[in-house]
Amino acid sequence: MSDAETGTVYLVGAGPGDPDLLTVRARKLLDSADVVAHDSLVHDDLIESIPASTRQVDVGKRPGPDGERTTQEEIHDLLVETASEPASVVRLKCGDPTVFARGGEEAEALDDAGVDCEIVPGVTSAIAAPGVAGIPVTHREHASALTVVTGHEDPTKAESALDWGALADQVAAGGTLSILMGVGKLPKNMAALETAGLDPETPVAMIERATYDDETVVTGTVATIAERAREADISPPAVTLVGEVVEIREAVDACLRSLQRQTGRVSSARLRSD
Ligand code: SAH
Repeated sequence: MSDAETGTVYLVGAGPGDPDLLTVRARKLLDSADVVAHDSLVHDDLIESIPASTRQVDVGKRPGPDGERTTQEEIHDLLVETASEPASVVRLKCGDPTVFARGGEEAEALDDAGVDCEIVPGVTSAIAAPGVAGIPVTHREHASALTVVTGHEDPTKAESALDWGALADQVAAGGTLSILMGVGKLPKNMAALETAGLDPETPVAMIERATYDDETVVTGTVATIAERAREADISPPAVTLVGEVVEIREAVDACLRSLQRQTGRVSSARLRSD
């Protein structure tokens, strides 16, 4: 097991984008870390706020200019290696580190290597993206359950881990479905819900780059959202929200607008209608 001679790796959630949505604990750790290893989906302003003396490693798994990708195995090795000295290592991930962020795998790899590790929760985009767009994911009169899924799996594949029939039933029974990583497969996923019997008129919203200055919100239905998203050129990162709660946005939007008038703090992009 680890001792004072080894470091600690903090698996830290950076929130959905806007650095103001960082937790106080995350801020303190970022200000005192020896090393910060961050993903590509972390806001530039947050990266720039890290002290210049801190060693920064971009382990974003998107292809770089030369097409390189950091593999998950390489990330595990980097974390274990940097924590082999008595260093404070922040592994910074967008949203919450345990929601589709491989935080569990990294914690397991660290445990196998005998490195101390702590999970520092963050504000997940699964809930925050709809929230800033004026859509509550639950509501006493409209939704009593929330299901968060990856939209990246192909619903037509036999080996899909997701049961789209069960998901359709859940929404029909008054639940909300929050789909992450679902832009590419949006038409297939919506068709899967419809084929499984979900009312094609069920409201759907897509929130692209929530809390960034260029945040975009598009609304439609299970039947129309793929076309609307294509017209609006929605691209990742975006959250797709399926359920009756989407309709509450109109009422909440009015209150967001009034807040904007009073404080000037809510960006107009955030309130953009479609
Ligand atoms: N751990 C993250 C999710 C990582 S998976 C979390 O808890 O939020 C990456 C997916 O997150 C993206 O494909 C997108 O669906 C969603 N996402 C992350 N940031 C987002 C943002 N600012 N706006 C909309 N979606 C976002």
